[in-house]
Amino acid sequence: MRRKIVVGNWKMFKTPSEALRDFNEFVEISGALWDRVDLGIAAPAVSLPGMAALRTNGVAVHSQNSHWEKEGAFTGELSVGMLKDLNVRGSVIGHSERRQYFAETNATAGKRVGALLRAGLESIFCIGETLAERERGDLKKVLRAQLVEGFEAAGLHNASDVIGADANRPLLSIAYEPVWAIGTGKAATPVEAQEAHAFVREVLGEIFGADCASRLRILYGGSVNPANATSFMSCPDVDGALVGGASLKPVAFVELCQKAQ
Ligand code: PEP
Repeated sequence: MRRKIVVGNWKMFKTPSEALRDFNEFVEISGALWDRVDLGIAAPAVSLPGMAALRTNGVAVHSQNSHWEKEGAFTGELSVGMLKDLNVRGSVIGHSERRQYFAETNATAGKRVGALLRAGLESIFCIGETLAERERGDLKKVLRAQLVEGFEAAGLHNASDVIGADANRPLLSIAYEPVWAIGTGKAATPVEAQEAHAFVREVLGEIFGADCASRLRILYGGSVNPANATSFMSCPDVDGALVGGASLKPVAFVELCQKAQ
């Protein structure tokens, strides 16, 4: 039985003081929910030190990017060592906004995921098709390429690489986020989500073996809100959610997270 995971993606919202205030509120009102559901917030880089310093290990703090090199002349990037030093749990990688506006590719995203996992940090690897790709009938082709090319670049081939020390909390998660559903208010239907998730799990099984694939969490992302969350959480291959807009207000986000119990 996979434990559900819900992570808020705060994108480029909130100053560090607003982020700290809202994170504190979220931690407080979510109470002991973290005992039943893995919870996290992926925050802008400048907010990570303040949030991670609270050491609220029940509610994880994630970054929204991290580089594959240990250090070097990579202006604007964050290293895995920097994140570890702050007590940041992991990073959202390959988000469609990174792919669309900052030239992230399957290969660069994969290298980032590889570096995180090798350091024992978690990674939520985002994949998903555009509307044009879906309408062309290329959904499976696109998802397969994102996974295969990503893990090839990551140098990750074995179950042990992606599971890590705790089989109940694998280092790797996948977020299936159809690009047309992100920030549009037009979520995929639960049937569409389940179909894509089952296919993602099938491809993960080809790469890492069926037992490993059955342990990895696959989050759905794209206009999830408190009203539709239950319909996704009840799909057999949906193991949680990556949430943008609906994660920004602590009270509403707690309401959404409660649907994952
Ligand atoms: C996201 O940013 O990953 C996302 C899914 O956004 P939203 O929930 O706003 O669609």
